[in-house]
Amino acid sequence: MLTLPAPAPSLPSPLTPLSDPALSRAGVELRLKRDDLIGDRVPGNKFRKLMPNLRAAAEAGHSRVLTFGGAYSHHIAAVAAAVGPASVGVIRGDELATRPRNPSLAAAEAHGMRLAFVSRADYRRLRDGLDDPAVREELRRAHGRCWIVPEGGSNALAARGAAETAAELTGLGPRDVVCCAVGTGGTLAGIAAGLPPGARALGVAALRGAGYLEGEVARLQTAAWGRTSGNWAIDHGHHGGGYGRVQPELERFAAAFEARHGLRVERRYVAKALFAVHRLAGGPLLPPGTRVTVVVTGPPD
Ligand SMILES: *Cc1c(COP(=O)(O)O)cnc(C)c1O
Repeated sequence: MLTLPAPAPSLPSPLTPLSDPALSRAGVELRLKRDDLIGDRVPGNKFRKLMPNLRAAAEAGHSRVLTFGGAYSHHIAAVAAAVGPASVGVIRGDELATRPRNPSLAAAEAHGMRLAFVSRADYRRLRDGLDDPAVREELRRAHGRCWIVPEGGSNALAARGAAETAAELTGLGPRDVVCCAVGTGGTLAGIAAGLPPGARALGVAALRGAGYLEGEVARLQTAAWGRTSGNWAIDHGHHGGGYGRVQPELERFAAAFEARHGLRVERRYVAKALFAVHRLAGGPLLPPGTRVTVVVTGPPD
């Protein structure tokens, strides 16, 4: 049996109104939904997405979890922190096997996660082949019987877990937009599905060239609820050069935001969502009168 992470964190996560001069001028109200404060070992949206998977794995009698990620994946780190020795991380890039571990992979190993480095071609084949019984059998032979969580942790269970963030936001209506950064789309899929009628969700893509994300979010919503919710959009204009990139303009914005509000901001995702809100405030996606709730999906590194 899997031992689920304990103790349970304090939920619901806090909701904090912020007074931000630039947004006030645009007629937009800002609030932060502090999911970065939930979970101690497994932070933010990774906690929301992972817990339903771990519960399902335990109920199905699994004792181990296998998942996929790159060398800097927050998801890999989260799974390692959650179930440590009961986890296998299939890592993209066989050249990394013999190199010194980066801090993220070193931490995963320290938690007891077994790392399996595979070539980029094999990684793609395994990651994209999870519906193929032959691929599952290959993974089972290599790593034993495992509950398999896809790359980035996004599946139907993860989307349901993410919907709880939206469910905690009461009193939403037609002037509300709930905004989050998008990596694989599971968080946006859940948040949008969890909103009451009238409220909308806006995702900010943290990756460049991620035009497939709309299809991914729709697929995840259909897998979890049998339909898409139709109340969401994805902004592709604020990835700032792509995943992991923090261009000087984004860094300046994030540093100024931190100084104004006295809190630190994770750069690869959360800063991009906040920057997008500042850029889009007053425009057609966030017209004057909008109350925007930015979900702080994870803590600073
Ligand atoms: C992983 C992550 C995301 C992206 O979530 P998806 O469900 O993959 O879209 C956003 N913000 C933070 C801080 C993350 O770690």
